Amino acid sequence: MTVLEARNIHKRYGGLAALTDVDLTVSKGQFVAVIGPNGAGKSTLLNVLTGLAMPDEGQVVLGGRAITRMATNRRIRAGLGRTFQHGRVFPRLNVLENVMTGAAIRGDLSEAALREVSMEVIAQMGLAEDADEAIGSLSYGRRRMVELARALACRPQVLLLDEPAAGLNSGEVDQLVDRLTELRARHGLAIVLIEHNMGMVMRLAERIFVLNFGCKIAEGTPAEIQADPAVLSAYLGEGYVHADV
Ligand code: ADP
Ligand code: MG
Repeated sequence: MTVLEARNIHKRYGGLAALTDVDLTVSKGQFVAVIGPNGAGKSTLLNVLTGLAMPDEGQVVLGGRAITRMATNRRIRAGLGRTFQHGRVFPRLNVLENVMTGAAIRGDLSEAALREVSMEVIAQMGLAEDADEAIGSLSYGRRRMVELARALACRPQVLLLDEPAAGLNSGEVDQLVDRLTELRARHGLAIVLIEHNMGMVMRLAERIFVLNFGCKIAEGTPAEIQADPAVLSAYLGEGYVHADV
């Protein structure tokens, strides 16, 4: 069953075609990755899915309903959660307050319920001991986990992550992989991951979409993508050795 779909998306910025006729389909509970070189249009696609960018053509469909022109906050309430490539936290708020801003988008929770939901997610993300800490006192890696917790605080059906492993050390990447695996297993969450860490992508993704210069050049399983000549020449490179999957 399809939960999120982008159909024939076109997006231009002036003379630049950031996305040309791009399709993406995500099934319920599926783990999908979007890969490709810098400037390929990955973040733009996420922005179109979440309402931060309006496509020039094409449709975004969530749970069978067209949401192409729907405002971001309403999409979040309808089941989309996301994090950003260049982390966004509220520097003057502590961890709990940051996560509560995510839960508050639901718009139907009392202050006490907001706290409860947020503390639950914080614990789930392994951040319980940091709940009252100022964001500024946390390591970069923990701050990124706070962002993830904030996105989860709205209980999304689909979680969209823009390079969540960038800047993390290998221990933190392993932890992130564990958390994402757990989220999927426990909550049946569908995940759309943009990532350059191929070990992580090949370990997690069931289906991979490859963008290059705004076009989808391949789509398939990790094994198919790692053997695809177009992907090897555009992105993975001739010296690419199969990631351990
Ligand atoms: P990726 O995430 O794959 O690195 P992006 O989606 O960020 O790629 O960018 C795709 C192309 O669109 C790039 O050439 C980028 O410079 C351009 N672009 C993205 N957002 C904007 C914007 N708001 N205004 C103008 N150009 C943009
Ligand atoms: Mg990007």
